[in-house]
Amino acid sequence: MAGAGKKARVVVVGGGAGGSFLAKNMQGHADVVLVDPKEYKEIPCAELRSMVEPSFAERSLIYHKDYLKDATIVTSSAVNITEDAVLTADGQSLPYDYLVIATGHAFTTPVSRAERLKEFQRDNAKIESSESVLIIGGGPTGVELAAEIAVDYPGKKVTLVHRGPRLLEFMGEKASKKCLDWLTSKKVEVLLQQSVNLGTLSDTEKVYKTSGGETITADCHFVCITRPLSSSWLHDTILKESLDSKGRVMVEKDLRVKGYNNIFAVGDITDIPEIKQAYIAHKHALVVAKNLKLLINGLPNSKLTTYNPGYPIALVCLGRKEGLLQFPLLTLCGWLPGKIKSGDVFVGKTRKEMGLNG
Ligand SMILES: Cc1cc2nc3c(=O)[nH]c(=O)nc-3n(C[C@H](O)[C@H](O)[C@H](O)COP(=O)(O)OP(=O)(O)OC[C@H]3O[C@@H](n4cnc5c(N)ncnc54)[C@H](O)[C@@H]3O)c2cc1C
Repeated sequence: MAGAGKKARVVVVGGGAGGSFLAKNMQGHADVVLVDPKEYKEIPCAELRSMVEPSFAERSLIYHKDYLKDATIVTSSAVNITEDAVLTADGQSLPYDYLVIATGHAFTTPVSRAERLKEFQRDNAKIESSESVLIIGGGPTGVELAAEIAVDYPGKKVTLVHRGPRLLEFMGEKASKKCLDWLTSKKVEVLLQQSVNLGTLSDTEKVYKTSGGETITADCHFVCITRPLSSSWLHDTILKESLDSKGRVMVEKDLRVKGYNNIFAVGDITDIPEIKQAYIAHKHALVVAKNLKLLINGLPNSKLTTYNPGYPIALVCLGRKEGLLQFPLLTLCGWLPGKIKSGDVFVGKTRKEMGLNG
């Protein structure tokens, strides 16, 4: 632990929704180190809008250095954890007094912000130059992408193939039905309980066979399936016994990792039974920031704040003006939920939370 006069060292592994917010909140209160292979934080809600409007990503891809003025940023992946240090892929050993695991989902995007911007431009060029688009996956990402294309490019033929029996399976059946009706009204063809063999996909082949024997012709395709958790790197660390069978980090109510007094976890990587959303990762980050400050100030473990999952609220964008909102007892579709998210897709709000101009 930090000696007299020396600030406690907090290492945060993962600079996504939860980790970046936590690191920002701990600046000034501790010697903060953020470890992330990417040089930037991405506001996930803006990903699909940026595919139809690439300049949108200028505000949603934020350099870590822009909001972390009083912290050390290590641009590398964490590969191991010992009792007192995090080891990184570029060979560094980062000692910690407190550690926070926030590695969410495995990243597949470029490590450079400039490259990520180019990726959005390439995606957009692909959409612009295609008369027909196939989207594989009917979760929130596939649905939001289908809606963005249907609204911005109404002349293009959009087909959405989903393996499951209904769209947006993380929401209720009412929401799935409203979503299907909305997409159908925008002339999106939705094929349920069918899949496309991902192993046979190529950028030149324009004919796709589904598992149901249907043939789809499309000028391009986008794969929108759930990414795996970024927890495989934890299997050989001291935390291996703290992972559940799905690779999630098991946490106590105060968000400390089971079996550890000085290691916390936040966001999608945790085993808390709730929907996995960025706004929830933020809530975790606030609880952990509070608990870290209490511990740093010498308060006992018994004084730590606990995290209570609230009512699950899910909100999906349907293009620029409409949306689909699910409260526990009410599901709304149309312009009213659209007013909450679909215009700016929470970019201004998130930037303000990170201390930046909206
Ligand atoms: C397209 C899309 C749209 C979404 N829209 C919404 C929305 O509208 N509203 C909402 O609330 N939620 C939304 N979500 C969900 C939301 O993105 C996640 O719930 C949230 O990002 C989880 O935050 P996190 O901090 O746990 O992990 P992530 O945001 O996934 O961040 C993980 C970070 O860890 C880093 N990392 C991974 N492995 C390592 C390693 N070994 N070492 C160091 N760093 C590592 C990654 O680079 C990344 O920066 C959306 C998700 C997607 C994919």
